[in-house]
Amino acid sequence: MAEQWIYLNGEFVEKEDAKISVYDHGFLYGDGVFEGIRVYEGNVFRLKEHLDRLYDSAKSIMLMIPQSKEEMTDILIKTLQKNKLQNAYIRLVVSRGVGNLGLDPSSCSNPQVIVIAEELALFPKELYESGLEIITVATRRNRPDVLSPKVKSLNYLNNILVKIEASLAGVSEALMLNDQGYVAEGSADNVFIVKGNTLSTPPGYVGALEGITRNAIIEIALELGYTVKQEPFTRHDVYTADEVFLTGTAAEVIAVVKVDGRQIGDGHPGKETNRLLEAFRAKVIEDGEKVYPEVEIS
Ligand code: PMP
Repeated sequence: MAEQWIYLNGEFVEKEDAKISVYDHGFLYGDGVFEGIRVYEGNVFRLKEHLDRLYDSAKSIMLMIPQSKEEMTDILIKTLQKNKLQNAYIRLVVSRGVGNLGLDPSSCSNPQVIVIAEELALFPKELYESGLEIITVATRRNRPDVLSPKVKSLNYLNNILVKIEASLAGVSEALMLNDQGYVAEGSADNVFIVKGNTLSTPPGYVGALEGITRNAIIEIALELGYTVKQEPFTRHDVYTADEVFLTGTAAEVIAVVKVDGRQIGDGHPGKETNRLLEAFRAKVIEDGEKVYPEVEIS
């Protein structure tokens, strides 16, 4: 396998050597922020939105990212070039940095900036064709008034608990409800239900991250003439939907064909989901910001 280069605080190091201190507050406390960004044929999808979200998350937790957004863009491009990648998932992490054992971030001097780029499909290829079986789990989404879902922080414990529940049940993904029992989102993806010509997805105040893929799908759906509602819904609405699908930068767009044992539609990825997926695939190329011009596009 080709060697993999990781950007780590101003230099490129090989994967095996990409290490940070055990005193890093990102490690000790999950104190930091991150982004997942996709590149399609050298086009970075919605880079501005991803960087805005990263810098807003950092501002919210009073973390000063040392680089400007322009400098960060340059780092991302260099990481792609160094790894010779035109199609990739980029993980950009900014942690609070090395401090003492106390919680107080004022002991941390420099944020650590890490960029990992690699080819990644979140679920096995066959699941993109057959659709996912998922469940709803007992783990509830963090209340948005306790920790805003807009802050994409390194604290993913409750999402990890969702994954554990899902794998214990033998499925690869699950939906979280919020504290009132409304459907919030998946462990790392947003959820849509389709009923006739109407798409519904939970609004941010239910507890969902207002994902960048979610927002792209909303735009596409409106362009294609669907009605789109951002409204709270329950498990009943999911069970009785014509179609269900999940969206996320890592997950992309993936159909759901069974929820808590209830078959959705005819048990195969639905017509509308496939139509939206096709339009999404076109959009990631059309709308992508071409930041990687010297590589020929196949
Ligand atoms: N919800 C959660 C909890 C996530 O971690 C993600 C992945 N970033 C999403 C939704 C999907 O968001 P996006 O489309 O911006 O990747």
